[in-house]
Amino acid sequence: RSRAVTPELTEDDLALDRSLRPKRLGDYLGQTKIKESLAILIEAARARGDVVDHILFSGPPGLGKTTLATVVANELGANIRTTSGPAIERTGDLAAILTNLEEGDVLFIDEIHRLNRMVEEVLYPALEDFALDIVVGKGPAARSIRLDLPRFTLVGATTRTGLLTGPLRDRFGICFRLQYYAPEELASIVRRSAAILGVDIVEEGALEIARRSRGTPRLANRLLKRVRDWAQVRGDGVIDEDVAAQALSFFEVDSLGLDAVDNRILELLAVQFGGRPVGLTTLASALSEDPDSLEDVYEPYLMQQGLMVRTPKGRVATARAYEHLGIPAPTA
Ligand code: ADP
Repeated sequence: RSRAVTPELTEDDLALDRSLRPKRLGDYLGQTKIKESLAILIEAARARGDVVDHILFSGPPGLGKTTLATVVANELGANIRTTSGPAIERTGDLAAILTNLEEGDVLFIDEIHRLNRMVEEVLYPALEDFALDIVVGKGPAARSIRLDLPRFTLVGATTRTGLLTGPLRDRFGICFRLQYYAPEELASIVRRSAAILGVDIVEEGALEIARRSRGTPRLANRLLKRVRDWAQVRGDGVIDEDVAAQALSFFEVDSLGLDAVDNRILELLAVQFGGRPVGLTTLASALSEDPDSLEDVYEPYLMQQGLMVRTPKGRVATARAYEHLGIPAPTA
């Protein structure tokens, strides 16, 4: 299914992400507080000639966690090794990665909540003592040998901190929660990307794309590309507010940045379930989506927009959702 606003990575995005990814803190727009903290952390560690503490970034997909990991490495002048939780299947895979690190390297593990338990346990001493415990031999003759590892910085990324086990979470020196970007911040990102891609866009056009990009840079970049194509074929190539609005309506991205799936969620809550609270799994199966992606990908934005709330009894559409759908809210 092709969704214009799916926050997950598509093949197309990989190339776009790479070409538009900021390399230094100065090019990374928004998330001001996080940038300031990182700048301090990096400068302090450099001045001490020490490695930076392990860092955890959490937040919905496409907000810039991977980008920040590479920015941290660049600012440190360090190499970055990139992998992901599901890619490290066996403890041996992790041991190979760790023993190949060099002093001061940044190891980036995306989707770190998806590491399996055995792999995670190998990671603990590596994070704490920069050591790798290897068991040699079997049965009564088995003994453990401790290998020293180079000192490195782990940067982990996850959609929700709550998905990590307690022991893993505790081993991060610092955790940053990325927030959705404000429209003005996203508009700056759109203008930066337009300049790199050689796209003709005016301020108001960038803001219109930004308003419909659900606070997410990856989406803003993707929508910019689609609007550019539309403007080239249906317009004169220049993206202004009107062109952006028309193009995005054509791609079924509405004025709040909601697409068909988001609107379907609101309709289910408001109409099919008659405004009563609905549990996560019920809602997920009515949508034919998996509960995790419903919770990590769709719900955060709907809640941030004040269209949906979670109550102890389940999910409920708000008055704003009824207004958005153009149907009367039930009277209590
Ligand atoms: P995540 O790892 O959180 O899923 P990424 O770091 O891959 O997200 O970001 C997706 C894309 O969005 C990047 O390739 C980059 O082009 C863009 N991007 C993310 N954050 C920023 C930012 N703060 N400023 C400019 N572009 C950004």
